[in-house]
Amino acid sequence: MAARLTQEERQAIRRVATACRPYKTMQEIVNLIVETKKQLEHLRALGVEGIRPQPIEERTAPSETAAPEPLTSLFGDLAPAPATFAPSAETFEQIHTEIGDCTRCPLHLERTHVVHTEGNREARLMFVGEAPGADEDAQSRPFVGRAGQLLTKIIEAIGLKREEVLIGNVNRCRPPQNRAPTTEEASMCKPYLLREIAVVQPKVIVVLGNTAMKNLLDTREGITRLRGTFQDYKGIKVMPTFHPAYLLRDPSKKRETWEDLKKVRDYLDSHP
Ligand code: URA
Repeated sequence: MAARLTQEERQAIRRVATACRPYKTMQEIVNLIVETKKQLEHLRALGVEGIRPQPIEERTAPSETAAPEPLTSLFGDLAPAPATFAPSAETFEQIHTEIGDCTRCPLHLERTHVVHTEGNREARLMFVGEAPGADEDAQSRPFVGRAGQLLTKIIEAIGLKREEVLIGNVNRCRPPQNRAPTTEEASMCKPYLLREIAVVQPKVIVVLGNTAMKNLLDTREGITRLRGTFQDYKGIKVMPTFHPAYLLRDPSKKRETWEDLKKVRDYLDSHP
């Protein structure tokens, strides 16, 4: 007679099934595990000593008001590493070669091109969005559609040219129907963005919209609450503001975005 599963075992199976839902084949799940291990090793080499896993049950409906959980240590009770980037000797070319014709997450199934970070590799200012849309996927360049054109105007409004800044996304492949990338998809791709940030070490990063902000800052706060206030990412100032696609839908939010960008301009002007 088949052994009966305990309630705990049934819950564990449900959790694994939920986590694997976006993946269609066993090979994709194996790739995910191998890639996750590599990325944890890379983060550890960068000085990260712990991660805060988000319980699967909370991922579909994150509470915007819940207090952040304490950081749990993965590798023992060592003192926290200094919250700055170690200098990186990598080049973008090396990072992009490693990404290659990426199949690490299910987003590769429907993308046309991988869309890498572009712009000035000595930039003092970087913009980070969520993931490419249809135009970006077709042209293999970030922020070239309507939202991208608005972003270019925003950059020019603070006295810079698009070529002077760095522009990238948390995810490099277009999600189907422009949905937000899942936590798993973002965690596959984000380490490459962090490596680019470590190479350039811009003075300020502007995160565009909720998804980019939550992924870079690892916060559960919403964009409406944090926008306009400088945050910190390993010694780099981070300014959350609205995503230009949102501004196209609700132009009344342009005024707040302009206030946020003026703070960025003033900070850069006073830190030459
Ligand atoms: N939206 C994004 O978040 N990124 C792009 O590159 C384009 C649109």
